[in-house]
This record gives sequence, structure tokens and C-alpha cells, in this order.
Amino acid sequence: MWKRLPLIWKILIGMVLGMVWGMVSHALGWDDFTTNWVKPWGVIFLNLLKLVAVPLIFVSLVSGIASLTNITRLSRIGLKTLFLYVLTTLVAITFGLVLVNIVKPGNTFPEEKKIEFQHKFAPKLEEKKSVAQQEQEKSPLHFIVDMVPENIFKAASDNSKMLQVIFFAIFFGIGMVLLPEEKVSVVKEFFDGLNEIILKIIDIFMGFAPYGVFALLAGLIVDFSGDVALFKALGLYFLTVTLGLILLILFFYPTLMRIFVGMSPLAFLRGILPAQLVAFSTSSSAATLPVTKRQVEQELKVHPEISNFVLPIGVTINMDGTSCYQAIAAVFIAEVFGIDLTFGQMLIILLTALLASIGSPGVPGGSIVMLIIVLSSVGLPVEGLALILGVDRPLDMLRTAVNVTGDSTVASLVAKSEGLIGEENRP
Ligand code: ASP
Repeated sequence: MWKRLPLIWKILIGMVLGMVWGMVSHALGWDDFTTNWVKPWGVIFLNLLKLVAVPLIFVSLVSGIASLTNITRLSRIGLKTLFLYVLTTLVAITFGLVLVNIVKPGNTFPEEKKIEFQHKFAPKLEEKKSVAQQEQEKSPLHFIVDMVPENIFKAASDNSKMLQVIFFAIFFGIGMVLLPEEKVSVVKEFFDGLNEIILKIIDIFMGFAPYGVFALLAGLIVDFSGDVALFKALGLYFLTVTLGLILLILFFYPTLMRIFVGMSPLAFLRGILPAQLVAFSTSSSAATLPVTKRQVEQELKVHPEISNFVLPIGVTINMDGTSCYQAIAAVFIAEVFGIDLTFGQMLIILLTALLASIGSPGVPGGSIVMLIIVLSSVGLPVEGLALILGVDRPLDMLRTAVNVTGDSTVASLVAKSEGLIGEENRP
């Protein structure tokens, strides 16, 4: 019975049981048992996903680009991808800004909690602040400098350097496209074969997904169970971010899919749900990439020519959930400190949140440092971050699910515009 159950159900059951286990074990005082004997299986699952992330990005980008056969086509698809990534991110930020200005969650935040949280999270904040300061001290062009690796093996050995791997892979692929077919046909076949192998490995790892998410969620619940008071104090802020992110998942992307791809919202959500659940459990869109790619190809029927190219790039530069959250968090902090933001300042938030989401790595809490930069851009006190750090993890889980949904939607839109989506593309 369990064997024949579709993967999506197995993952859902794993998640629910994981949460139940976490709550029960906390209530019975088994926290240590869960941390020592259950949580490690979640870490193993996460490591398995991370293990394939870099080879997957490299191999899928090279074979994706090489299959495009001419450079005009490559630049056309590249431009469409970037345009859609920026556009969807801008919509997500605008939506966040509108929502937070309607709900105004910061206006009701108690003064004594403000002081308490600032004390409690001061050490953590200092740590993030010093990283942000290093970022800000660099030249304005540093993000381009950081993109160009000086050693590909060094870049490939560090999961936070995915943009550097992408950079090399793109030029590797372009080199193949520019050379005559007979010179590169062996390499092309080699990469196609590697691609197949990596997809197979992902399939094998996914068999472990239900147990992995069980363990991850059980561990998270135990870690968080002491912080219930935080959630109560930050209730309205927490709800505003959650509402924004859920509305993006349930309405924004399905509407785009309905209008431009002609796919029913239900089919879309059902197809992408396993990737959302893994994103939710791992809080890392980079680690979720193998699953996102699998779902986009197998369920949304996007041709690998498109998904191979669009998804790895999206993982590093397209973060709609993150940018929507950053907008809400910035305005919330302004409200708590009694600072009225002008329309011009909102526009600056829009722009910096866009850049910050491009710069955030797809790892748990990847955007926190970038949020400091958003806050500083409009002169908001970065100390405000201390107010929201305590409840960041669950919001991170949700925004990561939005991030992968955004990538999948753009992959489908680009595929549709190239006539590369549909039943005939199903592997
Ligand atoms: N955890 C997010 C991701 O991996 C990034 C963030 O918002 O912190 O997509």
C-alpha cells in the first residue's frame, strides 16, 4: 500500500507525522532523543540534495545550452528568462508593500517587547551586521567581481558559490554552441549521459524524501517549541508575511499559469507541490533544485532544454518569496520605530529588495544579511532586525516554497513561448 502511494502523498504524510512527532516528543520530554536520533536523518537527506546540486547545475546548464544549437536562440531565451524573473520579483515586492501598508502590523507592537527582543537577539544581530558591513564596504561592482571565479574547482567546492559555477557553465556551453558540431559531439553525448545519471540519482534520493522531511520537521519543532511566546508577540507581522506568501502561491502563479500557459491551477499546484514541500522542509531553494527540476519536467512537462537553463539560474537570482518578505519586514520595522516612510523611500525599498533577492544565496536564512542592506538603504535602524529574527525560520520555510514556485512558473512561461511545454515533452 505504502509502496504504491504517489510520492506527493508520502511526503505530505512524512511532514505531518514529523510535526506530530516533534510536538509529542517535546511534550513527553524526549527532545534529546529526537535531536540525537531523528534529526540526523533529516540532515542526511539535506546533504544528499546538496550533494547533487552543484553537479546538477553544471551538467544541466551545459547540456541545456549546448542543445540550443545557435547563439541567437540562446540570447532570446536568456533575455526572456531575465525579464520574467525581474518582473515577477517586482510584482511580489509591490504586493508585499501594499499588504503591509494595509495591515500595518508594526503599529500595535508593544514597546516593552521591543526592548526585550533587542536585548535577546543582540549577539546574533552583531554577527549579521558585521557580515553586512563587509558587503557594504566592497566596491559597488563587487557583485560582478564575485560572479567571476578564479578557480572553478574552488567555486564548485562551495555551495554558496553557485553563481560562479553558473558563470563557468554558461561559457562552457557557449563554447560548445560556437564550435562545429563534429568537434563537440562526443562532449555533448557525454554531458547528456551525465545528465541522465544525475536525474537517476535524484530519483533514488527522492525515495528517501518522506523520511527526510519527517526527520527535518520533527527536529525543527523540537528546536522551536520554546519560542511560542515569540510567535504570540509577533502575531500580526507573522500573519502578514504568511498571508502574502500564501496568496502568491495560491493566486499569483496559478493565474499566470492559467492565462499564459493554459494549465489549470490545480494541475499546476499538484505538479509542483513535492518541490514546495521539500523547499518548506529544507529552507533552501538551492538544495531543492533537484526536486524542482524533476517536478517541472515530469509534471509540468517543460522540455529539459528550457528547465536545464532557466531553473539553475532562478535558484540563485530569482527569489520572489524572499523579496516580498523583505519589503514587509522593512516596513514593519519602520512602523515599530515610529518612522513614516515616504513614497520615494518605498521605491528605494522596491529597488534594493530586488537587488537583495538577486544577491541572496538559496540557503536557510540567506536573505537576512541582505535585509540589513535594504534597511540601511532607507536609513532604518538595523537593530529592528532583532525583533524578527526569532520567528524567521518558519517564514524562511514558506518563502523558500514561494521561491521555487516562482522559478517553476517562469520556466513554464518561457517553455510555452518557445513551444516547448506539453505532453510530448514528458520524459
Ligand atoms: N532560504 C531562502 C531560499 O533558499 C532564501 C532566504 O529567503 O533566506 O530560497
